[in-house]
Amino acid sequence: MGSHSSSDKVTNTGRRHIIGALGASILAGGASQAVAQSLGFPAPPAGLGKRPYPNLLRPLSDKKRKFGYAIVGLGKYAVNQILPAFAECEHARLAALVSGDIEKARRLGNHYGIEESHLYTYDNFDKIAQDPDVDAVYIILPNSLHADFTIRSFRAGKHVMCEKPMALNAEECQRMIDAGKKAGKELMIGYRCHFDPITHKAVALARSGVIGTPQIITTDNGDNTDPTDPTYQWRLTRSLSGGGALMDLGIYGINGSRYMLNEDPVEVQATIMPPTDPMFRQIDETIVWIMRYRSGAVAHGSASFNVNAMSRFNLQGTKGSMRMDPATSYWCNTVSLCKTGDTQTWSTPMFTINELNQFSAQLDHLPISIANGTRVAATGEEGMQDVRLIQAIYKAAHSGRPVSTDWGDWRKTI
Ligand code: NDP
Repeated sequence: MGSHSSSDKVTNTGRRHIIGALGASILAGGASQAVAQSLGFPAPPAGLGKRPYPNLLRPLSDKKRKFGYAIVGLGKYAVNQILPAFAECEHARLAALVSGDIEKARRLGNHYGIEESHLYTYDNFDKIAQDPDVDAVYIILPNSLHADFTIRSFRAGKHVMCEKPMALNAEECQRMIDAGKKAGKELMIGYRCHFDPITHKAVALARSGVIGTPQIITTDNGDNTDPTDPTYQWRLTRSLSGGGALMDLGIYGINGSRYMLNEDPVEVQATIMPPTDPMFRQIDETIVWIMRYRSGAVAHGSASFNVNAMSRFNLQGTKGSMRMDPATSYWCNTVSLCKTGDTQTWSTPMFTINELNQFSAQLDHLPISIANGTRVAATGEEGMQDVRLIQAIYKAAHSGRPVSTDWGDWRKTI
């Protein structure tokens, strides 16, 4: 069927399989040690326990004259993805650690060369205002803590990088944006995919006209949930997470759809499926939604906390389609351009990426933007638009009716 050579396909698929297994096992947080070490990653320092799972720790190189980040919340994403990524940053460096577990902060501080004077707890966090090594605070806490720590960081006179979803609701987002403006500091949301070269390629394809007029977007994001792992426990608790699969994983599909189409939806509909396990009683286990665009395009998405890992994106145009699978993985996302003729379909995996690149690029982006006086790629307003859409999708699911999201061009407010 296809016009690509079978050897290309085997090579690409094989590489994806190896790195994908590593990534998936890191995400799962338990069984990846042997895989990681077989691929050359060092063993973690002793005594860090099951969580966080520090199997990608790397020493920093030159620390001088780089933009200093304080990392707040030393959980799975911070320890496995963000801390190691500083090793590949050109402009950013790790300057401080903030944790509720000071012993963990000390162990990581020893590993990364962070002195005791740059270790903070949540209680004494505000002292960071007097830490000249810290230029920005990167908040990697449960969602319910994003707003509070963002505002405290701005009060301390620091720039802020905040993880997705930006906050629990639009009101919190607005307070975060206002606090940044008052402090005269930048706010950036941790949309790492905006720094993934595969995503850039996909956006270029989507907007190039090569697939004709974009008509239908399909996005699916999901993962299994392990209720014995603390990283999932707060996600299952509404007061800490704000919601379930949609807040945590569906947000990738929402942001990706808007990014590909360069357009915001004007109406949403949604259904939350009844939970199949009591652990999901507080949050959405599986949700499906439809987003209607003024251009005539439609995006339908799903997110689930109870499926084998999935991260897919399909953009169907009038003359072809663009597919990403995986679309938002940590490693080796792929994009394929598919054109269907009478009997032939061709599909070309175009890129693979090195591990860590998107994280390092994201960390470097904030100091580059500040130095150049240019707008960050993922502003607070961008994060707030996704949170507003999430709220509208939940409202549509609970009411059983379409909800208008035609609230004007948020970009004009920046
Ligand atoms: P984890 O549970 O692994 O880490 C969260 C950390 O927050 C904990 O380890 C803990 O660190 C700290 N914390 C403070 N208060 C609490 C509390 N009440 N309950 C639990 N933890 C607490 O979560 P993740 O690292 O997976 O996620 C953190 C944030 O990062 C979320 O907002 C998530 O959406 C986002 N994320 C983004 C990803 C991306 O690709 N952009 C990927 C994964 C997550 P300590 O012990 O140091 O105090």
